[in-house]
Amino acid sequence: MIFLKSSEEIELLRISNQIVAKTHGEISKIIKPGITTKYIDKIADEFIRDNGAVPGFLNYNGFKGSICVSVNDVVVHGIPSDNIVLQEGDIVSVDIGAYKNGFHGDSAYTYPVGEVSPQVKALLRTTKEALYKGIEQARENNRVGDISAAVQSYCEERGYGVVREMIGHGLGRNLHEAPDVPNYGKRGNGPKLRAGMVICIEPMINLGVRNVMIEKDGWTCRTVDGKPSAHYEHAVAIGKGQADILSGFKYIEEVLGERFI
Ligand code: MG
Ligand code: MG
Repeated sequence: MIFLKSSEEIELLRISNQIVAKTHGEISKIIKPGITTKYIDKIADEFIRDNGAVPGFLNYNGFKGSICVSVNDVVVHGIPSDNIVLQEGDIVSVDIGAYKNGFHGDSAYTYPVGEVSPQVKALLRTTKEALYKGIEQARENNRVGDISAAVQSYCEERGYGVVREMIGHGLGRNLHEAPDVPNYGKRGNGPKLRAGMVICIEPMINLGVRNVMIEKDGWTCRTVDGKPSAHYEHAVAIGKGQADILSGFKYIEEVLGERFI
């Protein structure tokens, strides 16, 4: 069942997603070689709580982190750890959730650590562009498949692997609601988009093959070929024209300046 949101509920969702967006701004200040993924988690946890929210992922199905921090070939759901230290040339995907006023925020961004290779930079740029190609299709009377096909074709035409096992979703009082929003599919297929739907569009794109595996911890999702993977996510509200982006990368851009890819 798809829950349509009132304009008041969309404003509450905007509050939660803006806390997530600002948390990303804080994270972008500290990403550098030598820090641990647990330290990123700590900074995010403190900022979310200082803003009167609760980390949305903590204890979700037993997840033992306030946020997900996924390095290089880890696609998503990396568990923050004191033993994982960022190195020059790494990429780190940070997925943040914040829960406030009964509604969830959810947005992800992949950060370069110092200088990354041109090949990896192109992966990041393409994945972020694919997110916006998907958002362009997120409008009333289109279908979920229009979003999916836009993301898939943009990435596959450029030779990247589009992850199938992990997908976007509706967002509201629950972190994951209907409809599913896959990053692969056919135009004109899937549920019709209606004003008041709030969805997370989140391409997970691999430099190599699309296949992934889950580690024994039950969470860490890695590429099978060990090549890096990128993840960008926005929460958007569907309306008549262009979708209303409830999250946003502007706080990241303000910090990174010319280094913003
Ligand atoms: Mg997320
Ligand atoms: Mg999500």
